[in-house]
Amino acid sequence: MPKNRPYLYHELTNSICSTCYRKAEAKIIEENGRIYMVKRCLVHGPEKVLISTDVEYYHRTREFVKPSEMPQIWNTPIKYGCPYDCGLCPDHEQHSCLTLLEITDHCNMKCPICFAESSPHRTSYRSLEQIAFMLDRIVENEGEPDIVQISGGEPTTHPDFFEILEMCKSRPIKHIMLNTNGVRIAQDREFTRRLASYMPGFEIYLQFDSFEASVLKELRGADVRRIREDAIRHLNEFNLSTTLVVTLKKGLNDHEIGKIIQYGLKQRAVRGVTIQPIQAAGRLEGYDPSTDRLTVSEVRQMIIDQSGVFNENDILPVPCHPDCLAMGYALKLGKQVLPLTRMIEPEVLLEGDSNTIVFENDPVIRGKLFELLSTGHSPISSALSLKSLLCCLPLAAVPKQINYDNVFRVIIMQFLDAYNFDVRSVKKSCVHIVHPDGRIIPFDTYNLFYRDDKEQLLEERKREIVTAWE
Ligand code: SF4
Repeated sequence: MPKNRPYLYHELTNSICSTCYRKAEAKIIEENGRIYMVKRCLVHGPEKVLISTDVEYYHRTREFVKPSEMPQIWNTPIKYGCPYDCGLCPDHEQHSCLTLLEITDHCNMKCPICFAESSPHRTSYRSLEQIAFMLDRIVENEGEPDIVQISGGEPTTHPDFFEILEMCKSRPIKHIMLNTNGVRIAQDREFTRRLASYMPGFEIYLQFDSFEASVLKELRGADVRRIREDAIRHLNEFNLSTTLVVTLKKGLNDHEIGKIIQYGLKQRAVRGVTIQPIQAAGRLEGYDPSTDRLTVSEVRQMIIDQSGVFNENDILPVPCHPDCLAMGYALKLGKQVLPLTRMIEPEVLLEGDSNTIVFENDPVIRGKLFELLSTGHSPISSALSLKSLLCCLPLAAVPKQINYDNVFRVIIMQFLDAYNFDVRSVKKSCVHIVHPDGRIIPFDTYNLFYRDDKEQLLEERKREIVTAWE
């Protein structure tokens, strides 16, 4: 009798070795109700990485596909193979839903977890000429970019900050986001008032990780609770559209997800919560990538368990990059919260509970909701699609005046790192960053290969590929 493997083999992909970043063939397997990536580097040996704790949800991500949308131009040729050709090279399978524009590496905080390694000691500000060049490249790539996110460092410390905002506004960008730690917003009411004058089509992406001093000290290097409170007060005063951005670390602040969502629902200015899991990535002693990683499926389950709003039919994969993005929508109607996404499920007949309104199981509404998710995670597209959805709702209870103020979305946004890196998946990445030389690069590969001196390692890998060819 032949013996069976103790796992199910699902597929083969390419990853990279987490030590040397050379490409490594990887199997995706199912074992004990979990999905793992198993890969082997010819130099550094085997690795086993946890990919998902929920087999059913993992397979569901594969069903959420739609034809890939392309940018208007490609910037680099296919030469060394993915991920060494960014980009975007013609092998990429998604345009930029969101493009980051970093305008400085200076910051008024010094967070231990900063991927850009920004700090008060770094003091370079990009010139207006450089920023204009980068913005023009984004527009050249996208025509009318969905979202440009002004980022840093801390972008509000740039001496020409408002001029840069004007430069963004004067280009055909549908939605501008400001990625900020909120320090200036908290300390300067007049600054917040001026920011609010850039609405509509402008939103704050506010760092908001925890209500606990010890957690904030570990993630941010300081107890910034007062700063967060003051920032939210000013943002509420001017009803400046805000997304709370939670950097989530396993075992540290993952018990606070529900509390942050509930808090966000009560704030006038807050339109949603985006949760970005970080990986310990070897900094912790005894770190085991096969067990210690925070996966999308775990974060999704925490939202379901803790939020009191969303259930398993509400947080669904986003079709533009279903491995790494999951999203759920709700409507804020005064004190009522109405979860919407569950209506995509044909078999689910919605019953109202204490904080929802009863809906018909209407296929038109479900179709509209799928359309809503399929438009990606752009706030502007979600607002527009919600508007068309709301035309179909047979609800006397829904007020006539519903707009972006009523939208509340929860997003899980995972970035691939050297452990879970998957070439199949990274090609679908739709969160990109503009390189100072004008290339548009997936955020995942940028942090691994293209940021600052990391390109030296990339050059080494490319030289090896050329040598192997010769
Ligand atoms: S990640 Fe995309 S842009 Fe980069 S090499 Fe791969 S396919 Fe090309």
